[in-house]
Amino acid sequence: MPYKWPSDTDFALRELDFLDRACPACGRMMHICDHRYRRIHTLEGPVQLVCKLNHCPDPDCPGHAQTKSPEQEAMIAPPNWAIGWDVFCWIGHRRCARHMSIPLIQSELLDDYAIKLSDDAIAKYIRRYQVMLAARQQDPQALRRQYESVPEIVLSIDGLQPEKGHETLYVVRELTQKRVWFAKPLISATADEVQRLIAQAKEWATSLNKTVSLWISDKQDAFVTGIAAEFPGVPHRYCDNHFLRDLAKPVLEADSHAKVQMRHKVRGLRKIEQAVLKRQNAEALTSLAQDDPTATVTVIVAPANAPAPEPDSAGTVVLDYCAAVRGILNGDQGGPLQPPGLQMAAALKEVGESIQRNLDAKKGGSQKSNSAVLPTASTGDWSMSKPSKRQSESTSRTSTRWPRPWNLEGRVARIGRRSSRS
Ligand SMILES: [Zn+2]
Repeated sequence: MPYKWPSDTDFALRELDFLDRACPACGRMMHICDHRYRRIHTLEGPVQLVCKLNHCPDPDCPGHAQTKSPEQEAMIAPPNWAIGWDVFCWIGHRRCARHMSIPLIQSELLDDYAIKLSDDAIAKYIRRYQVMLAARQQDPQALRRQYESVPEIVLSIDGLQPEKGHETLYVVRELTQKRVWFAKPLISATADEVQRLIAQAKEWATSLNKTVSLWISDKQDAFVTGIAAEFPGVPHRYCDNHFLRDLAKPVLEADSHAKVQMRHKVRGLRKIEQAVLKRQNAEALTSLAQDDPTATVTVIVAPANAPAPEPDSAGTVVLDYCAAVRGILNGDQGGPLQPPGLQMAAALKEVGESIQRNLDAKKGGSQKSNSAVLPTASTGDWSMSKPSKRQSESTSRTSTRWPRPWNLEGRVARIGRRSSRS
């Protein structure tokens, strides 16, 4: 269906001449016999092309019946398109490189360039772009240029099933240049069909005159037999990703079992927290009652809101240690390479060591009972035993939601200093 242009469209006019005007049949100078008018969208705005058509003036020459269009026309837009190459490339790039949806491409074209295209038209241009891109990707000359300086190549094959019940797309990739060589949809991937793909890869490698040093796949039976048949003697390795995925299942099962056991062992957090809160409530009530007798009424009405203990009180530090432990016990981030249970064990150990350092510092302080020595001794102790940067980075990803034990130690030390001064 021809494109409908609004009547008030302001077209830029462009005349195109036929440049080589010698008749290809007899060599005589050709004449202009007609004009063809075309209107197309370009990124610079709507353009009207005036194409001068030529033919041989000699009615007996075969060049008389064949009119020639200007050479440049095809460089601006292919025949019968409503858009120029620039718009076409813009659409293809947005789709293939940025994975934009058709409605999004449609609205951006309209907003940024005032180009109004139907979704059907955009879908049609995208299909053509894909065909051209695939042809370009498989262009033997371009391929040869890319592989000129590559000594050996590594090939991989895998099946992708975009939707259940649909045919599987088998993709052969070359890994040194990270390039898809070709892909084929196979409804039933029999060993014969798969082997044909591998044979095609062999043809490509031969035409490039390259040695295949390695094959990588998930080692489906059809791949194993096909590669062994077409590439005898070439090693065939398990793909890292598939290997890890298969290994991950038992690892994560064992890890989750370990987590359950740790959660069983670390109990009683709620009891500790309740005891601290109860004491804080009681302290707040007494202090309020002493400060302002009228405030008692408010406190009795809403006792839970009343306490606002200072951040460095011993109680809040205990609560923060509890929060840290609870956060650790609830942590479930991490994959098979950093199992959550191992992270949990490391973090619990960290808390245990931190509490131990607090106890050690307190013991050292009470022996000396010298308030001037205690702060430096205790702060020096915990800052030296802070985890190394690498350790803290490896745990910080998963444990930033709760207080860090070594931050709590600083507060414990300050409380120690304060109480030893008073
Ligand atoms: Zn002629």
